[in-house]
Amino acid sequence: MFEYGYSNFLESLVYGLLLLILIITNIYLERVNTDMSLRDKMNAEHALKSLYDEARDYAFDYANAVPERNVFPSAEAISNLNHFVEDMPIENGDGSEILKQLHTLGSPASVAHTGGRYFGYVNGGIIPVTLATKWLTDFWDQNTALYLMSPIASKLEAVCETWLKQLFCLPDETVAGFVSGTSSAIFCGLAAARFRLYDNKGWDFNRQGMNGAPALRVITGRETHGAVVKALALLGFGLDNIEYVDCDDQGRICAEKLPALDDRCVLVLQAGNVSSGAFDPFDEICTQAADAGAWVHIDGAFGLWAGGTTQLRHLTKGMDKAQSWSVDGHKTLNTPYDSGILLCADKQALTGALQASGAYLHFSENRDGMHYTPEMSRRARAVELWAALKYLGSKGVDELIVGLHDRAVQFSNELSQQGFSILNDVVFNQIVVSCNTSNTHTEQIIQSIQASGECWVGGSMWQGQKVIRISVCSWVTSESDISRSVMAFVAARAKTLKAS
Ligand SMILES: *Cc1c(COP(=O)(O)O)cnc(C)c1O
Repeated sequence: MFEYGYSNFLESLVYGLLLLILIITNIYLERVNTDMSLRDKMNAEHALKSLYDEARDYAFDYANAVPERNVFPSAEAISNLNHFVEDMPIENGDGSEILKQLHTLGSPASVAHTGGRYFGYVNGGIIPVTLATKWLTDFWDQNTALYLMSPIASKLEAVCETWLKQLFCLPDETVAGFVSGTSSAIFCGLAAARFRLYDNKGWDFNRQGMNGAPALRVITGRETHGAVVKALALLGFGLDNIEYVDCDDQGRICAEKLPALDDRCVLVLQAGNVSSGAFDPFDEICTQAADAGAWVHIDGAFGLWAGGTTQLRHLTKGMDKAQSWSVDGHKTLNTPYDSGILLCADKQALTGALQASGAYLHFSENRDGMHYTPEMSRRARAVELWAALKYLGSKGVDELIVGLHDRAVQFSNELSQQGFSILNDVVFNQIVVSCNTSNTHTEQIIQSIQASGECWVGGSMWQGQKVIRISVCSWVTSESDISRSVMAFVAARAKTLKAS
């Protein structure tokens, strides 16, 4: 009875299992079948390469149109963007149609940053070989979290780290993290600062956190960048706790107004004021900070590159005495976007602050990029940075950066000749322009310049008055681009004052 029952049980088990396998296989096959059609389609697209050819043709069309088109998109181009507003598609689409839609509706609604007459914010141009590098490496589709995910990305990050250290004459022990931009780089630098200052006090911030932690102090200039304030808020420093230091008429911290420093202080200085381009006096302040055991971070999103030139290096004198630095590739260096760099002379503090682990993560003897960034998965942005540095060489960095400065000086001279007032010393690539009119008229002049399509500049407030802000940030900008833009200023002023 027992015998029979047992084999009967086994038999049903076998049949049951067979049935289950059949059901699972069926479900699987059906899945794979529907999947297959999409995969077949994508396989064909990839093998045919016609989508890539189309993208290239559109890209060249775009590039050819940029020099003469309106810098800011026309009202029509912007209104056409409404064609993008639709329900999320249910069925898969046609790759070729998607590219066509992007080119016909999207391209005209882009801002012509890659032309020579965009002077808004601090938006860099793009060096051809870095753009081409981006195309090539898009085919690689590398993740740079770990060496084991991409030996090539790891190697080029290491090479960039060495080159940048040499270019900026930073301490030998300096390490680099390749992040999305300066905002993220500042965040990392200040996280390292927090880690170090607490560690010096015997407080393990990662474990013990902020509850009951001894208070740190944070000191920065009144002209500090919004990205610094954002990072301080994110990191829990508390904006009400910032000790702001007065600045001079150029936007530089007045060193003599610094409060007494101690070993609980994080100082955030600036290489390149976002309006005037002015540099804080690093030499003096960094020496004081070092004596006090304070941490200095230098935000040099676009200005740090002055330290990589021979002619403008004097602006960054003493910056090597700081502990961390943030800089962008995508501004004055003209790499593609999404290229921020954090440099830190205290590797242990940086990697300590950005620690992460997991049983599945295999670290290596080689550079594992994720130790130096908040992200794990990241695209291989340092390859474009490497291409820029390899292509330019230190001489080329000098020529590029000093060239931006030269054209900013030309811009300011020609504007002065036309009766505009330049409110800053044009030490770098930024110009603060007064139209010598009311704030309302200045705003109208700005709008009129923007509407002309001839060039694009933004406005700001500078020492209580409305001003025009100019940033010369692209290698493309030529002397005639500058003169043509000055004429657009003159025309806009005439139009505005005539109408009033
Ligand atoms: C642009 C800029 C930032 C922010 O950098 P992102 O790359 O835009 O994040 C910070 N500080 C200064 C001085 C800047 O010019």
